[in-house]
Amino acid sequence: MQIDNLDNFDPGSEFEADIAIIGAGPAGITIAREFLNSPYRVLLIESGLVDEHEPHMALNQVESEGEPAGEAAINFRRIFHGPNMGSFNQQAQPYGMRVRAFGGSAKYWGGRSATFDQMDFAKRDWVPFSGWPVSRESLKPYFDRAADWLNLGPNCYDEEFWKLLGGKIERPPLDRSKLRSCFWQYARSRRDLTQMKSFGADFKALDSGKVRVLVNATVTQIEIDEDGKAFSHLEVSTIDNVRSKVTARLCVLVAQGRSFPAVSSWPDFFARTPGRGEAPQRRHLHASGNLPG
Ligand SMILES: Cc1cc2nc3c(=O)[nH]c(=O)nc-3n(C[C@H](O)[C@H](O)[C@H](O)COP(=O)(O)OP(=O)(O)OC[C@H]3O[C@@H](n4cnc5c(N)ncnc54)[C@H](O)[C@@H]3O)c2cc1C
Repeated sequence: MQIDNLDNFDPGSEFEADIAIIGAGPAGITIAREFLNSPYRVLLIESGLVDEHEPHMALNQVESEGEPAGEAAINFRRIFHGPNMGSFNQQAQPYGMRVRAFGGSAKYWGGRSATFDQMDFAKRDWVPFSGWPVSRESLKPYFDRAADWLNLGPNCYDEEFWKLLGGKIERPPLDRSKLRSCFWQYARSRRDLTQMKSFGADFKALDSGKVRVLVNATVTQIEIDEDGKAFSHLEVSTIDNVRSKVTARLCVLVAQGRSFPAVSSWPDFFARTPGRGEAPQRRHLHASGNLPG
């Protein structure tokens, strides 16, 4: 896979593609992978470098309101993130943890995988902003493809899994009218089963004349045409503020879905996008696991 650093191009360079994908985390990489053998030229644009780098990590700095950042919480993170603890800084990321590098946060993920539950899609009055605009049913055709990419076994995470176990593990004597079983699988690397699946390393090993990766390229602006009906181009910048331009027919935004609307220049884009003007411009930053107070 061709991976270029924006730093190696002249300021004001222009890149052209059919499809520009913003963010080389699991989402961006998985979408780019779908185009490996297509006729389309794809440019996968990543803010960070191939490996983590302190100045890029600083771009993930967040302010946290109301999050307990006491010693107990910090200790819990030490235990929870274990060997990856060195890769984030408690001051910069007081809540949650994100990675700004090729491969995204899954550079340090746990690989724990399951399909979404019916409940995840439901609107729940007690959960603000809950309810998805797509159904679980509409995603079903993609589950097996995702499992293959994640190097998982059968896509089975509920009561049916006991049947697959064929009595090899005894079922705990729990009240089935009150509790139901659910299971996880761990996504392992095909190259080394003792390691978690690494989207970046697996993708880097693939060949394609059509898909390119541009690192050290933070998208700072998404431009749309005058009447706000079509995507026009992107402005990208190196960490040293050297700016270039990317034109494409289509743009896919998968840059830290958890927090991208908070990137300072982007709310303007959301405000100008048809149908988006009244949408909440700040989403919530979630983290895996709960931190004790
Ligand atoms: C320690 C840890 C453990 C985890 N364990 C699990 C687990 O076991 N199971 C599980 O399902 N999930 C787990 N997760 C969560 C999982 O890693 C994320 O849900 C997943 O990485 C999200 O993928 P994504 O592509 O949407 O975003 P990200 O992985 O966040 O990738 C987004 C990419 O966009 C880039 N980017 C951001 N802004 C810009 C910009 N302006 N321009 C260009 N690029 C930009 C970022 O640098 C990043 O590389 C874990 C996460 C962490 C941190």
